Amino acid sequence: MYDYVIIGAGSAGCVLANRLTEDPTIRVLLLEAGGPDKQKEFHIPAAFSTLFKSQHDWAYDTEEQSHLNHRKLYWPRGKVLGGSSSINIMIYIRGNRRDYDHWHDLGNEGWSFSEVLPYFRKAENQERGASEYHGVGGPLNVADLRYINPLSRVFVEAGVEIGLSRNVDFNGPEQEGVGFYQVTQKRGQRHSAAGAYLRPVLNRTNLTVLSHAHVTRLIVEKTRSVGVAYVRDGQPQQATVNREVILCGGAINSPQLLMLSGIGPADHLHTLGIPVVMDLPGVGQDLQDHLAIGVVYDCTQPISLASAGTVGDILSYLLFKKGPLTSNIAEAGAFIKTQSDLLAPDLQLGFVPVYFVDHGFTRLKGHGFSLGVALLRPQSSGHITLRSGDPFEPPAIQPNYLGREADGQALIEGLKICRRLVQAKSFDPFRGAERYPGPQVQSEDALSEYIRSLSQTVYHPVGTCKMGHDAMAVVDARLRVRGVTGLRVADASIMPALVGGNTNAPTIMIAEKAADLIRADA
Ligand SMILES: Cc1cc2nc3c(=O)[nH]c(=O)nc-3n(C[C@H](O)[C@H](O)[C@H](O)COP(=O)(O)OP(=O)(O)OC[C@H]3O[C@@H](n4cnc5c(N)ncnc54)[C@H](O)[C@@H]3O)c2cc1C
Repeated sequence: MYDYVIIGAGSAGCVLANRLTEDPTIRVLLLEAGGPDKQKEFHIPAAFSTLFKSQHDWAYDTEEQSHLNHRKLYWPRGKVLGGSSSINIMIYIRGNRRDYDHWHDLGNEGWSFSEVLPYFRKAENQERGASEYHGVGGPLNVADLRYINPLSRVFVEAGVEIGLSRNVDFNGPEQEGVGFYQVTQKRGQRHSAAGAYLRPVLNRTNLTVLSHAHVTRLIVEKTRSVGVAYVRDGQPQQATVNREVILCGGAINSPQLLMLSGIGPADHLHTLGIPVVMDLPGVGQDLQDHLAIGVVYDCTQPISLASAGTVGDILSYLLFKKGPLTSNIAEAGAFIKTQSDLLAPDLQLGFVPVYFVDHGFTRLKGHGFSLGVALLRPQSSGHITLRSGDPFEPPAIQPNYLGREADGQALIEGLKICRRLVQAKSFDPFRGAERYPGPQVQSEDALSEYIRSLSQTVYHPVGTCKMGHDAMAVVDARLRVRGVTGLRVADASIMPALVGGNTNAPTIMIAEKAADLIRADA
């Protein structure tokens, strides 16, 4: 019998396991479907893409996207201690302060920017030191990159040349502008949620962590959640709980588990023969993600990251944790507005000083560089549904990318900005031929077709158990599942609207706040 069972040891689950077991009288069980993060590729920043489609990746595919030439898009998700924070690109971004004020304005008390900032600061160990916006002494290390490729410096100068403001801190007073990303790294290594929050407390006797434990359903008596069923080593097991089950399975698996347990849209559950425990039509709905497209150029000088991995680089990494292997690949970026009267940037750029096509699966020989643009606040949204009542069958993921025309138009504008940036003088000594989309792709129609045929996710699905008060809300502002006692969701799925930036730091903030809410309600 545990006080709390946490499902999923990802970005959110690791935070909650740590914070709830600070009280030695509280007993917590953390269940994770994946295994430990021992392999060296988890820790070497530049190696992240080697984990794609490995045993540590749920490696989902979306449904065919009718607005993307019927392609199915690959969605990596970490299946390992640390979850997606163990395979992500380590960019530390909180989003725009207006994102949280918007959450608050939707009726979610306690979630305005000024109310969530203390949780971002609490989580953080900012290597630059404390300030109004940054914390020190928190579990999650936030660092400047130890290595920056010369092409990334060229990118930042080119951005300034075309009129973007230089921004030395995207998480400071102003998000807009161009600059280098900070990363969740410690001493040149990835600092995942597992490294930051879980490993340091594994010796707590009140915390039990079980990896390779795949939760198959929640056990609910009438409308009270009393435990979970899971499979480990092929054996069905159960755990019972005194206080609460906390679902931290992420934006795909949290709604999947709710629906497998009879909590979700009644019509959908009926069609699959799953007995309805609570009719919550919003479970799995309101799926939003950042879709991205990019330009790729040859580089006329042999200075890209393609030459990383020499004996010297390996030694530099092994001995000093320095050099190109500490690069997170997407070293620099920008937040820009397509229209000057927008209140917050609607596009995010990411510069990669090497060829980067199709998540790194398409290999191009030689030296190049890539510049991606992601649409921060898409109007399109989709959903996650079950294919069957089998907990081991992946759910159907329908993001409905570019379902609204405005989204495609914004990406076309983004492509034009990327091209203009690469045409800046700073790139003159380095710019070779345009590989993607290629000089022949100029008209709006041609750019649109290029987006349909090559755009990809930048890995930020949210919203499928959204917080709120409307009929589609799944959890309330204290993250309690509506109509079911003893059950909360605390992960990226609760976001009532996608934030304008990367989603790891926001998810960690959500979990930090959830820990306080849970303790206050105990
Ligand atoms: C390739 C990639 C790159 C990214 N890059 C960045 C970046 O640079 N910066 C950034 O801020 N964000 C980035 N993100 C996004 C960010 O990492 C995620 O938004 C964040 O980690 C989500 O946290 P979560 O806790 O909601 O889910 P996750 O971290 O995915 O955790 C969910 C956990 O639950 C486990 N689980 C699921 N189902 C079950 C089950 N049935 N039983 C037991 N356990 C289960 C999973 O295995 C996983 O460990 C990236 C993501 C990916 C995939």
